[in-house]
Amino acid sequence: MTIPTSVLRLAVASIAMSWSATAVAAEPVDTILKNGEIYTIDSAQPWAEAVAIQDGLIAYVGTTEGAMALARVSTQVIDLGGRFAMPGLVDAHVHPIMGGLKTLYECNFEFTATPDEIAAIVAGCAARLPAGTLIRGGQWDSAFFESHPLESPRGFLDRVTDRHPVMLIDDSQHNAWVNSAALRMAGIDRDTPDPPGGRIVRDASGEPNGVLLEAAFRILLRKSLPPWTPEQHVAAAEAAARMANAYGITSLKDAGAYDEYAAAYQAVDAAGKLHLNVVTSLRTSNDRAEPLDYGDFEARRTRYASRHVYTNFVKIFLDGVPTPARTAAMLAPYVSDQEHGSTFTGELLLDPGLLAKDVTELDRRGFTIKIHAAGDRSIRVALDAIEAARRANGSSGLRHELAHAGFIDPADIPRFAQLDVVPDYSPVIWHPSPIISSIIAALGERGRHYWPTRSLLDSGALIAGGSDWPAAVPDQNPWVGLEALVTRQDPRGKTPGLLWKEEGIRLDEAVRIFTINGARAMRLEKQIGSLEVGKSADLIVLDRNIFEVPITDVGDAQVQMTFFEGSLVHVAPAVTSAGGGQTGD
Ligand SMILES: [Zn+2]
Repeated sequence: MTIPTSVLRLAVASIAMSWSATAVAAEPVDTILKNGEIYTIDSAQPWAEAVAIQDGLIAYVGTTEGAMALARVSTQVIDLGGRFAMPGLVDAHVHPIMGGLKTLYECNFEFTATPDEIAAIVAGCAARLPAGTLIRGGQWDSAFFESHPLESPRGFLDRVTDRHPVMLIDDSQHNAWVNSAALRMAGIDRDTPDPPGGRIVRDASGEPNGVLLEAAFRILLRKSLPPWTPEQHVAAAEAAARMANAYGITSLKDAGAYDEYAAAYQAVDAAGKLHLNVVTSLRTSNDRAEPLDYGDFEARRTRYASRHVYTNFVKIFLDGVPTPARTAAMLAPYVSDQEHGSTFTGELLLDPGLLAKDVTELDRRGFTIKIHAAGDRSIRVALDAIEAARRANGSSGLRHELAHAGFIDPADIPRFAQLDVVPDYSPVIWHPSPIISSIIAALGERGRHYWPTRSLLDSGALIAGGSDWPAAVPDQNPWVGLEALVTRQDPRGKTPGLLWKEEGIRLDEAVRIFTINGARAMRLEKQIGSLEVGKSADLIVLDRNIFEVPITDVGDAQVQMTFFEGSLVHVAPAVTSAGGGQTGD
């Protein structure tokens, strides 16, 4: 539960404050990091040499001399040798258990894989798995079938294996490519109607061609999948938490938590192995005509909360993605194509009146809502719903979020600050890349006006950043996202060019997006997000000072040590072999 923890933290924080204020109390501390270049995100003291830690909390930030005055015989002293340290990062939008399951159990290929490469990888998985076992895998890029026009996507996979159902997910995680065995497993045939908000793509003869878009995937296919076991969920949560720590992430928001996910985090936390804070944005069902069962969400937040698991959060889907699938709701029509014609603007998954009711009721009950709103029409409707909640409830202090809010009509930019709404910047693709090219193909020139970061910051909006892994990005690495917020260039150097370079921001602004802003989005800004006395000792040591290296080297930053609540939870292999934090590389 959150209450005992925060009460405890406040109590210890006030003691810690008095140490700092008196400066002569010289209470001994557990751990000291000294001789560093420490970036604090605290405007009162942006840089420091040393941090002292007691009982998982920061007891002192300042000079090495000041910190060493708090040392006793048993104090662990880590000499940073001039290395750079900063607060642990916050990933405000990620799907850790999906990523963990994918890493541990799925048939994986790169976004750039060709049909032949995919066939070879799936054939390899089929050779290892007993006949009849579902092969899950991915991810094909959103423009895959435009780049590789297969005669029959279903027939292509049937030739790889007809002995296993195969389900391959795209990079947006919204759409699936399946073989005939998977269609049979789901009971989908030529007579199955398209569900609301989804489409079974068909060939000229009316047979499903193996591509299932949005609700056709989510509703028709997903319900027939053999579920992952609780043990697999727990293993995935543990693996994902370790991977996050290795990137320097000490807090994150699961942007769409099923009950099984929330239960897995809770179990890992109970076992003492969850070395980060997790917000679970509890999923709501899509494509519905009825209001949510608010009492049920209240019961679930109580059921799944634990020391590091925060459950006062809900996720609502309002539209899809602005790729060639054309499922994001836009104000102006998509580029004309045969299938959609010239007036198609995408569809909302929820009636605007129903959304406003749900947002108002959840806000009244203390839930922070993350609304998936990718298109500019969807964003406007979501802002309208939050405005309705503010009118009905007054300011609740809850910072609701719009996930992927990249295509914002200029008229709506000031509304984020006015309504205290957080644009959840995810995935980390504010630079040229194949998925951006596919978006530009579907949206035309306006696709180049994606992610108005500078304009949002100048309007006073609080931006939070998230990887969205495993959607759209190969890993959870936040450092490439930080770099590209500044450069608007591909930090991996694969796709040339710039994406709307006028919207680039400074590195210190980008760092705030991934630290204190994310903390605010999690409602944990009193505990995390900066290095200040009384806050949780969540900090990371890097192999470089990101403010001194060329900006194009920031994306390659390696995290050498990650501390969570004062405990060392990740050490890079090179650092381990050299012993403690004393390497001089
Ligand atoms: Zn997501």
